Amino acid sequence: MKPAPFAYAKARSVEHALELIGRDGEARILAGGQSLIATLNMRLSRPTLLVDINGISGLDGIAVKDGMVEIGALVRHAQAERSDVIAKHAPLIAKTIPHIGHPAIRNRGTIGGSIAFADPAAELPACLLALGGEVVIAGAKGSRTVAADDFFQGLFETALGAGEMITAVRVPAAAAMTCCGFAELARRHGDYALVGLAASARANGGTWADLRLAYFGVGATAQRARKAEAALARGALDDAVAALAEDLDPPDDVQETGTVKRHLAGVLLRRVASRLVERAA
Ligand SMILES: Cc1cc2nc3c(=O)[nH]c(=O)nc-3n(C[C@H](O)[C@H](O)[C@H](O)COP(=O)(O)OP(=O)(O)OC[C@H]3O[C@@H](n4cnc5c(N)ncnc54)[C@H](O)[C@@H]3O)c2cc1C
Repeated sequence: MKPAPFAYAKARSVEHALELIGRDGEARILAGGQSLIATLNMRLSRPTLLVDINGISGLDGIAVKDGMVEIGALVRHAQAERSDVIAKHAPLIAKTIPHIGHPAIRNRGTIGGSIAFADPAAELPACLLALGGEVVIAGAKGSRTVAADDFFQGLFETALGAGEMITAVRVPAAAAMTCCGFAELARRHGDYALVGLAASARANGGTWADLRLAYFGVGATAQRARKAEAALARGALDDAVAALAEDLDPPDDVQETGTVKRHLAGVLLRRVASRLVERAA
């Protein structure tokens, strides 16, 4: 199938992109195109204008600033995968990226596109949530920052308003006692996950502080398992697995039933918890 007709404009700067999307209520930003083009071809989306942001300079940096790792919206998954800064200061992201699609997709797909698209089975939204990160958003009235906990609002719905764009995401830089874990179950490596879990914590003499467990593939958005977090933080793994029954209510989908997904969420929690312990030791 072919997309419905659309106009195309190449933005020269963030301001120019905002002006272009502000002019046309049906405009969409084009980043890596790895999700957008598929939705156009399937006619799930019919924007009248695509605003290509790939030529905007300054959106592809990765740097540590004021204790946060800032990753520009146009950083490709592959660039983040190879980045020494990410490996050292955001190891959860480094562990996660190889699970996103395949090399061809990671060569084009961007961090900003993945966060904006907010696929409930995507890895990076869960990572951002597990790390307590934030999204930097530019709009006609200036720039604002939204915490990951508030950004993902529903199925493919985010806190991004009309006429706004993501310019970067930020996550706290890992400290000496930071531990993280990632695991997902997919039918084949590179497929969207049936269920996945990203976790981050600070080792605190046998227990955990700031423990955050973010699941994906279990509902409309990536979501934290707060009761399981509380149980695991005091070292009660069995209680944490049991608490998932209250934290998660995954619907049946084309891949699996909700019952199986909830069981798999427990399997992943045991795997990830053991890796957190290894790292802390
Ligand atoms: C075969 C295949 C397998 C895949 N497997 C996975 C997988 O396992 N896990 C996974 O997470 N992803 C997977 N993806 C998706 C991939 O990660 C995409 O790159 C990502 O979802 C979107 O990034 P993009 O840069 O391509 O965005 P685009 O496709 O260009 O845009 C996606 C959406 O985000 C909006 N957007 C893009 N950038 C911005 C911005 N800066 N500000 C505001 N809005 C913006 C666009 O308007 C559009 O609505 C797969 C894709 C394919 C084709």
